[in-house]
Amino acid sequence: SLSGRLQEVFRRLRGKGKLTEADVNDALREVRTALLAADVNFRVVKDFIARVRERAVGAEVLESLTPAQQVIKIVYEELTALMGGEHAKLSVAPKPPTVILLVGLQGSGKTTHAGKLAVHLRKQGRRPLLVAADVYRPAAVRQLQVLGEKAGVPVFQMGQQDPVAIARAGVEHARSTGLDTVIVDTAGRLHVDDELMGELERIKAAVSPHEVLLVVDAMAGQDAVNVAEEFHRRLGIDGIILTKLDGDQRGGAALSVRAVTGRPIKFAGTGEKLDALEPFHPERMASRILGMGDVLTLIEKAQEAVDAEKAMALAKKLAKDQYTLEDFRDQLRQMRRLGPLEQILSMIPGLGRLRELQDLKVDEKELARVEAIINSMTVQERRHPEIIDGSRRRRIAAGSGTRVADVNRLLRQFEDTRRLMKQMSSMERTLARRGGKG
Ligand code: GDP
Ligand code: MG
Repeated sequence: SLSGRLQEVFRRLRGKGKLTEADVNDALREVRTALLAADVNFRVVKDFIARVRERAVGAEVLESLTPAQQVIKIVYEELTALMGGEHAKLSVAPKPPTVILLVGLQGSGKTTHAGKLAVHLRKQGRRPLLVAADVYRPAAVRQLQVLGEKAGVPVFQMGQQDPVAIARAGVEHARSTGLDTVIVDTAGRLHVDDELMGELERIKAAVSPHEVLLVVDAMAGQDAVNVAEEFHRRLGIDGIILTKLDGDQRGGAALSVRAVTGRPIKFAGTGEKLDALEPFHPERMASRILGMGDVLTLIEKAQEAVDAEKAMALAKKLAKDQYTLEDFRDQLRQMRRLGPLEQILSMIPGLGRLRELQDLKVDEKELARVEAIINSMTVQERRHPEIIDGSRRRRIAAGSGTRVADVNRLLRQFEDTRRLMKQMSSMERTLARRGGKG
């Protein structure tokens, strides 16, 4: 498997200690072969390797990481970027109903995923309607009705009439009955052809969907990517549901489809059952491919780096009582840089430290506010927070677009942190002295 092969490449790299440019090139050649064998599109592989090489031989050096870990880190980040970087959410219409049009080849999983999406949205408190616009086989309508019953979601159907009229009537039905999301299941064919595209274009024009989601079978590998490119070129899609990931040993489609179409994978189908649907997270997929152990080590190391390098400097400052708001801000920034950590850790089943980690979560908005406030202070104020009186607080709040209460809270948090850190460092000193005696 791709995962196995990549882990083998990195295992050998790790055995080397110092890496020469030739070592890196050898490793990248093997990564390239592994990606191609996994059916990743060749253009995508070419660009990917070029980006990794440029970064790997460039100046990017994190002192705490071994050379091998640096290469793995770059590969991990580039794999994540390849799949779109961040999780892409479904769009929601400002004025309901939101209309989702599912398109794709026959057998790709449209009808099944119409049902799965309905279940998923219902869990989020939405009120979906399934619309049966695959009219060529009576069995298709029946299949959707069965799924709707299982999911507890209403199904709109008009038998074998014109699919464009059905889709339009379905949306109207949702609007008049207060259902907020319409999922239109359409017909597929074995291959992309003009008739199919014509019909889908007409449906699209009739209902102006907020999301045209292409359903593609991950097991089709390269073909899945070609199909996606074709659908996007002819119809225009907003996102992708990658199905049958449970049966895909290679990962080629997952890695190529975003790069080739420029459209994100929004969901992954992982089985035949109605609950086998996962919102797609690029960084999770990347860590799955690289193997959890590697990625975790990496992130732990990055954290140690931050800790080790800064701890020394901080300890000195604390000892001299020089811990400032600037240090406080730097610490918060470092925590933010470790962003994906929480998400990656949350994947590991039964991780005991999860609760602890949730408490440590750094809220992006809060961080932005803290930074804004500190940026609005003078250097003097940052280094000697005790001079920040009432009128300075008002000025800082106005300058940072926050309220005085926010400034007060920040100063309190800073004081608490400073006190806590002082306690910890004096505790460590005491323990170290005792240890020295024994
Ligand atoms: P459609 O022709 O595009 O509507 O495809 P269907 O929804 O009828 O699905 C075709 C087949 O693929 C069915 O047997 C489904 O049970 C199966 N299927 C759909 N999604 C998945 C999936 O994520 N994993 C697996 N293993 N099978 C799936
Ligand atoms: Mg179907």
